[in-house]
Amino acid sequence: MGLQSLAFVRVLIEGMAEKKKSDNKWVFVEDSGIHGKGVFAKRYIPEDTRIMEYVGERISKKESQRRGLEQMDMAAEDKRVGAVYIFDLNKKWDIDGNIPENIARFANHSCKENCEAYNIDDRIFYYTCKPVMKDEEILIDYGYALEHFLDHPCSCGAKKCVGFIVAKSDRAKFKRMRNRKEVKFILKKRKKKSSKRKSKVA
Ligand SMILES: [Zn+2]
Repeated sequence: MGLQSLAFVRVLIEGMAEKKKSDNKWVFVEDSGIHGKGVFAKRYIPEDTRIMEYVGERISKKESQRRGLEQMDMAAEDKRVGAVYIFDLNKKWDIDGNIPENIARFANHSCKENCEAYNIDDRIFYYTCKPVMKDEEILIDYGYALEHFLDHPCSCGAKKCVGFIVAKSDRAKFKRMRNRKEVKFILKKRKKKSSKRKSKVA
């Protein structure tokens, strides 16, 4: 495919969006062991399959910033409406994917992704980057920059989970930061919590 994966801006807050039935050929939305809702394979999906499009309203960067802040404020007041699903499309535009048709917004992050987002003629498509088994969760790399990683803990459950949502390209760099005192402290706290819960990802 040769196209670049995009940085993905998403702030997630618990307790939102009811179950949606999907007429997508490949995937469906269901509760996830990682976070809230997730996207799962209806059937075996071969590598390099276009499984869904990240659809939504095209908005300017300025509007994107305004909505992001507004939605975060709403989330602070009422957790049921709280989520920001804004995808960085190009230098000028973003996509606000907070519409019911957009099941791609439920795809969770993992340190071991099986899917990648591609910008093709200014539309965002999700492609599998390895074969995905039936009922396996669709997982992507949110591509978060290294700054503010403490705000984005990762509970993907992958063997090589680095503990925070960090872009694949920055993970090696991040591993060198892991011995910092505050990082160790948070990882320890989270380990206790997650050992009580069974994760879906091996
Ligand atoms: Zn992880």
